[in-house]
Amino acid sequence: MKKKSANLAVVSNNTFEASKAVNLHHYDISSALQTTLEFNELITIFSNQIKGLIPHNGFVYENEAFGLNISQGIKTKNSCSYELKVEDMSLGSLKIMRRQQFADEEIKLLETLLCSLIYPLKNATLYNQALKMAFTDPLTKTNNRTSFSDSLQREINLSQRNSRDLSLVFFDIDHFKQVNDTYGHECGDMVLASAANCIKESLRGSDIVFRYGGEEFVILLSDTDLAGAKIISERIRAKIENHTIAYGMATLKLTASLGISTLRKDDTPESLTNRADKAMYYAKEKGRNQVQTESAVQLV
Ligand code: GH3
Ligand code: MG
Ligand code: MG
Repeated sequence: MKKKSANLAVVSNNTFEASKAVNLHHYDISSALQTTLEFNELITIFSNQIKGLIPHNGFVYENEAFGLNISQGIKTKNSCSYELKVEDMSLGSLKIMRRQQFADEEIKLLETLLCSLIYPLKNATLYNQALKMAFTDPLTKTNNRTSFSDSLQREINLSQRNSRDLSLVFFDIDHFKQVNDTYGHECGDMVLASAANCIKESLRGSDIVFRYGGEEFVILLSDTDLAGAKIISERIRAKIENHTIAYGMATLKLTASLGISTLRKDDTPESLTNRADKAMYYAKEKGRNQVQTESAVQLV
């Protein structure tokens, strides 16, 4: 039987203290949970720690805010599900699964033990939120330049080690200064956020978009060769061209120029970025609203 999803909220320290008193194992579990701020590790530690008291066959932890869906063990007919919350902060949901039905006393005990997971999960949430903010551009909600430097080096290392393709796309809005000059900076900001959304909607889950500077974005396409990068870049270009932005009584149309480079054996982050930048400038030279590749630049 499926137990109804419950809202488990720690309302005050009193509740936490009280639950601690009724369970001798609380201290051990809490200590083990203090060793990490990773969601994955927290849930795994919790599951391992309670196994002796509440045997179970698996769990599923979901946290929409961080795009997490962590599961372990096997899916079973019986399960207990909890929406975890503290002080209006959502901490995700946890489903504990077992072949046999849970007894009422086991559910009670599980709910007491869950209290020890709440504050470690809150700490993990605050830590990961701060981390996310430090690497996110607040206007476009894309990854920022700091994040780009870290990610590019990591993606290059991974691709070179595993002999996998990696493409980099440089994206620049055409005549963006005119938008600011005609409609004002506030409109320019809105247009930037809108263009960023068009890029995001054209990508796969594994692709990463960064705001490189003003109206320039860089897209990292892992496991993607030149032909694949051309298809994605053209899709982005077309989406921008066909997008209409409403600002007050005015409607605005945009175009963008894109340049592509693909990873070579001896590439550094700078060399790979520079070739895509050059290809983007070549697209500007050739008349804007188009995609150009590093090989096209080399031909001239
Ligand atoms: P091109 O087609 O050659 O790329 O022309 P452009 O006008 O897009 O390029 P240019 O580099 O001359 O102008 C970029 C403009 O982007 C100038 C700057 O004021 C504006 N800009 C940069 N960052 C922001 C921002 O955060 N918000 C707004 N509203 N404008 C920005
Ligand atoms: Mg521009
Ligand atoms: Mg520019």
